[in-house]
Amino acid sequence: MKEEIDYEALKKKGFLKAKTPGDFIFRTRMPNGNYGAKELIALSQIATNYGRGITHATTRQGIEIPFIKHQDITSVEQIAKTAGLLAGTSGPRLRTTTVCPGSNWCKTGLINTFSLSEKIERMGFVCAKDLPHKFKISISGCLNSCVRVESSEIGIHGAIHKTKLKTKGYIIYLGGCGGRKPRYGIKLPEVYTEEETLEIVKKTILFFERHAKPRQRLALLIEEYGKDPFLKEIL
Ligand code: SF4
Repeated sequence: MKEEIDYEALKKKGFLKAKTPGDFIFRTRMPNGNYGAKELIALSQIATNYGRGITHATTRQGIEIPFIKHQDITSVEQIAKTAGLLAGTSGPRLRTTTVCPGSNWCKTGLINTFSLSEKIERMGFVCAKDLPHKFKISISGCLNSCVRVESSEIGIHGAIHKTKLKTKGYIIYLGGCGGRKPRYGIKLPEVYTEEETLEIVKKTILFFERHAKPRQRLALLIEEYGKDPFLKEIL
């Protein structure tokens, strides 16, 4: 009897159906875009032993290893687990938060992008959380916006608050997206504190969870719901 494959369940845990029938792509996520030697060795082992020796860096800070066979998925998962490699995801879910180094080592970085993304996770908004459609968060350390924060559902970058004794703060964009009909996110009116920023992130994701139809991106939901009523709920 032919084995039934639950492609949706595999996709959720990072194994995506490939172009070639029977092949899968293992997608990982790099927390804050960083990997240590241990994770790199495990990726190399997986690619060498179960793929064709190739790894591909995704645009959202993950690594994809193509040409994995279905029967090898359990072994791949075991190597990944031992090395602490986290799986990426696909489909209608929260994606990996994409960050630049920010103030950790970039000389123009104004905010600590790593700690902000970790605080978002600690609120329960972790990669692969089920949502009505894909939902992306991007964080840049300064106005240069190296991770294109304007094109994500939630985009945040560091800034200087000119009227508050030049303190550092956060500028937020909501409802941006790429895809076939790209949208530039709505720039919120203030430079926010970290606490305010986390509250806006929480309210935006909960708003999306409550109101979006299946396969409706936040940009289209805002168009349907109305920009002003949306902002009234969030701010
Ligand atoms: S956005 Fe700013 S802080 Fe981040 S990498 Fe670019 S220049 Fe550096």
